Amino acid sequence: MKELLERLAEECFPYTNQGEVANYIPELAKANPDALGIYIISEDGKHHFAGESMHSFTIQSIVKPILLLLALSDNGIDSVGERVGVEATGKPFDAINVSDLRLDSHHLNPMVNMGAIVMCTLIKGSTYQEKFERILELIRELAGNPEIGIEEAVYRSEKSCGSKNRALAYLLKSYGMLNDDVEDVLDCYFKACSIAVTCKDLANIGFVLANRGCKPMTNERIVPSEYARYVNAILMTCGMYDGSGEFALRVGVPAKSGVGGGIMAVVPGKMGIGIYSPALDKKGNSVAGIQLLERVSRELQLSIF
Ligand code: GLU
Repeated sequence: MKELLERLAEECFPYTNQGEVANYIPELAKANPDALGIYIISEDGKHHFAGESMHSFTIQSIVKPILLLLALSDNGIDSVGERVGVEATGKPFDAINVSDLRLDSHHLNPMVNMGAIVMCTLIKGSTYQEKFERILELIRELAGNPEIGIEEAVYRSEKSCGSKNRALAYLLKSYGMLNDDVEDVLDCYFKACSIAVTCKDLANIGFVLANRGCKPMTNERIVPSEYARYVNAILMTCGMYDGSGEFALRVGVPAKSGVGGGIMAVVPGKMGIGIYSPALDKKGNSVAGIQLLERVSRELQLSIF
C-alpha cells in the first residue's frame, strides 16, 4: 500500500500546478501550492501515508460535518432538519440562496456557509466561546488528538476579511433565522474554520464516520450511528461544493473539502482518508487532491456505486 500511495502521489504531483491557493482569506494565500499529502486508515486499523501527510493546515469547510454532528447530538434530527434543509444548493459555498426574494430553511444546507452559520447557533453552550470549545473537544475526540487547536493568524485574517459571511449572517437575521448577535456567532464560525489539522487527523475523523460513529480498533462509540449516516448522506450529495456530482462519478464516496486544501473522504465500512494539497480549482476543491483520490478509489475499488 505504501508503494501504491507513493506512486500515485508522484503521478498526481504535476496537478498542483493547475490550481490556485485560496486568497480571499489573505493568510491562506501563504500556503505552498506544491504540497500534496495523503493519509489512510483502513478497516484493519492500519495506517498508510505518503507525501506531506503530517503538514498542518486549517480545516475550513471540513468543520461543517462536525458542526452538523454536534447540532444533531444536541437537538436531534427533526429539530435540525426544521432549521436547515438537506437539498444540494448547486451553488458556491458562500452563495446567497434566496429564491423569489424569500429565504427559508429549505434554501439552506449544512455544507454551505449559511447553513453552517445557523448550525453554530444550534450547538449548546451558554456563550459562543463555550460552543466553540465543545466543537474543538469533539474534533479532538474524533481525531484522537488532544493537541488540536486553532491557527490564530488564519482566524484573525478570516475575521478581519469576513464581509461576505457577515452579509450572509445579517441576511439570515433579517429573515428571523438567526437570533443571536451576528459577531458572536461568526466569531465561533471563524474559529471553527481555523482549527489546524493534518491529513492524519482527517483520516481519523473520516474513519469514525465510515465506521458509523465508532473509533478505529477499540470500536468505542463517539456519535450515534444514525447521525453518522445522516452526515455521510449529506457529504455524498453536497460535500464537494457545486462539484459534488462530478466527484460522485470520479471518486464515488462521501467526502468534504475545504478552501485550506484539505479533503476528508469516508469510505463506508472501510476507510477514512485525509488529503492535503492547497491549490484549488474554481469551485474551491483541491485539484491534485481530487486526482489522487480518484486514482486511489480506482485502484482500491472504493466507489460505492
Ligand atoms: N472559512 C471559510 C469561509 O467561510 C470556509 C470556506 C470553505 O472552506 O469552503 O469562507
